[in-house]
Amino acid sequence: MTDGSRRVAQDWAAVCWQGRRKAFTSRAAQRWCSSLKIQAFRARSPGEAMVLVQSPRLGAITPMEAVCRRLAQHDLAQCLSARMDYTFSMRPLLHPTLVNGRSGDPALYVETLFEKRAILFDLGDISNLSPRKIQRLEHVFVSHAHIDHFIGFDRLLRVLVGREKTINLYGPTGFIDHVRHKLHAYRWNLIDRYVSDLVFVVTEIDASLATRTARYRLKNAFSIEAVCNGRSTEGVLYSEPTLRVSTAVLEHRTPCLGFAIEEAAHINVWKNRLAELGLPVGPWLRELKRAVIDNKPSDHLIRIGFRPTSPDIRELPLGTLRSVLTVAPGQKVAYVTDAADTPANRAAIIRLAQNADLLFIEAAFAQADTALAAERAHLTTAAAGSLAREAGARRIEPFHFSPRYSGHEARMMDEVMTVFTDREAERAGS
Ligand SMILES: [Zn+2]
Ligand SMILES: [Zn+2]
Repeated sequence: MTDGSRRVAQDWAAVCWQGRRKAFTSRAAQRWCSSLKIQAFRARSPGEAMVLVQSPRLGAITPMEAVCRRLAQHDLAQCLSARMDYTFSMRPLLHPTLVNGRSGDPALYVETLFEKRAILFDLGDISNLSPRKIQRLEHVFVSHAHIDHFIGFDRLLRVLVGREKTINLYGPTGFIDHVRHKLHAYRWNLIDRYVSDLVFVVTEIDASLATRTARYRLKNAFSIEAVCNGRSTEGVLYSEPTLRVSTAVLEHRTPCLGFAIEEAAHINVWKNRLAELGLPVGPWLRELKRAVIDNKPSDHLIRIGFRPTSPDIRELPLGTLRSVLTVAPGQKVAYVTDAADTPANRAAIIRLAQNADLLFIEAAFAQADTALAAERAHLTTAAAGSLAREAGARRIEPFHFSPRYSGHEARMMDEVMTVFTDREAERAGS
């Protein structure tokens, strides 16, 4: 094995090891990973590191199947040189969790790796979220103000009153008013006792992508302040150098927002390469990643040290440090709920969730209850599966199953996955 191929094999093994610890839950996937890792280390030549995948069907994780098929067809070195840096094995930045599972009130809590802050999609019952997790929230995106999507606002308020905090809230037309009614349900006559201020910056967006933003502050007894008008470009509600959140306004007999969160680019640091260069891990790596995202020139100097105040701090040009990084397309997670199955909604959902790594999508009704779903302006299991397939989503997480299917979650999942993985339909469509 040459040094080069040994390095890629080791990198791959490291990826698999991280993946095994971080992302893989199915036992078959874990077995597959360990065998890949062992083969990568044992191989004497790249050809010998051929990975034989006996059973490519690993649950419903479609990209995993694709990887398996490709690994079975090529040798390890070829796979690696083709940069098979799949998001699922790259320590993804975004870690979304359905707070109440697939059948409870909608709320998707998204943690960001390396950062102590979080994003929430929908504000259904959030009593399952600890105060610590609620305090990490900075941006909360609410699809619409039906009670199962907004009742959690009270707990958010209860946990945050008395803390110095700004929460950015986003919702459809009328949302500024909904927040005001929530806040004004309480008496705030003792607010001068609080030393810290709690601020809600509320933005609502309409179908023409015009926005209105208002502010409510505890110290002002949550009277409305600073209303301003704006316009969103291409549905982007919030953006920063590392990620952005965009929206699509859907029809649910009331405007309802779908969301997509996208990472700018996914940058992975190879610890073994750092060690080879005698460099420490530390907060300087964040600066290095930022320099890559900002497209800084190769001679841009990066300060290296265990911590920013290290006495042994030194500087190296970005060009020298690039070898410790790999850059892959960023991760995309879409969240779609409470939408009627109409041609306009379908087009908007497919556009929003295009090529998402992960699509959380409502599947409120079973396929047999299509008429009921239409009456209530919701999607069925089959509609969710076909939308995810047509959007080219890599993975689907259906949720918001109606309580009428309690105890039948497996059947609902089955209906979704049957349509999502329908190869015949895929071929017919291509
Ligand atoms: Zn609704
Ligand atoms: Zn709902």
